[in-house]
Amino acid sequence: MLSRVARPVATAAGLGRSFSGSSQCNAKVAVLGASGGIGQPLSLLLKNSPLVGELSLYDIAHTPGVAADLSHIETRAKVTGYLGAEQLPAALKGCEMVVMPAGVPRKPGMTRDDLFTTNASVVADLTEACARHCPEAMICVISNPVNSTIPITTEVFKKLGVYNPNKIFGVSTLDIVRANTFVAELKGLDPARVSVPVIGGHAGKTIIPLISQCNPKVEIPQDKLQALTERIQEAGTEVVKAKAGAGSATLSMAYAGARFAFSLLDAMNGKEGVVECAFVRSEETESPYFSTPLLLGKNGIEKNLGLGKLSAFEEKLVAEAMSELKASIKKGEDFVKNRK
Ligand code: NAD
Repeated sequence: MLSRVARPVATAAGLGRSFSGSSQCNAKVAVLGASGGIGQPLSLLLKNSPLVGELSLYDIAHTPGVAADLSHIETRAKVTGYLGAEQLPAALKGCEMVVMPAGVPRKPGMTRDDLFTTNASVVADLTEACARHCPEAMICVISNPVNSTIPITTEVFKKLGVYNPNKIFGVSTLDIVRANTFVAELKGLDPARVSVPVIGGHAGKTIIPLISQCNPKVEIPQDKLQALTERIQEAGTEVVKAKAGAGSATLSMAYAGARFAFSLLDAMNGKEGVVECAFVRSEETESPYFSTPLLLGKNGIEKNLGLGKLSAFEEKLVAEAMSELKASIKKGEDFVKNRK
């Protein structure tokens, strides 16, 4: 006789790490850019979570198909597809969380900053709609360059008078995921049990892994530490090169985006002690935005946990990141100021 097979309903823990409880909640979550390389697998992971009650999929292409496809999965999240700018208000209405992987990805030879010309307008338009139609939602921006798209989001929310710094996040989780994986590979550990905070920004040398704060503690000689740090900083480019023109990280980014979304949903749902790093408005350094570990709660950021104790090597990395970070932030702020 056939026994009933356990269904692979993913709690975040079902993703392989015990970073989320298996609690249920009925959050309405929108994915903006849902038909893309990140958007589709991210939407699949969200559809498979008991934390999501409604999944609102928005894009300028293909959302009816993506939504129809996902809606047949035997989990309770109700899926709806929205196509084109005139359907965006309906997609956002009542959302408690918006996850945004809309915009163009890198091709070989491009930096994240090269995406600014296209993605700045995409993010400004989409976040303006969020500020109008779901001003209370948690806004999780994946679209690059994150070091500029978060200042853009902030300035748009400020312009519309609905700004709350505790609810706007630049998703840098993929840097943490990569750091955990690479440290585990190097030290022969289970990656699901390695935790490396990554601070700073989300581009090249602004990505600062704090190997000295790795849990469990790891000893890595300086030459290997230098190479490991550079690999984490350039890991996105490793994928861009390997994909040879077909885009940047999508599957690992979908995993990372889902990890961040589940952590935040858990915290919104009352789970205590949830900590994730993200690129946010910050007073921890001279840079007005900076990623550090954040204690998350019902209303977003509950407490910024700061940089912690850095090694001399890490202090140097922070100092070296400052000018690029500040320039990218200013570029985002100026874009909104100069926009009609
Ligand atoms: P993609 O081209 O495969 O998908 C992007 C999607 O956005 C497409 O479906 C497109 O139709 C949609 N889109 C474009 N303009 C839109 C608009 N105005 N409104 C709604 N949807 C719109 O790209 P991808 O590989 O999924 O990457 C998406 C973004 O994520 C890129 O900017 C990329 O650089 C970024 N990214 C960020 C990280 C990170 O760590 N934060 C990692 C990887 C990629």
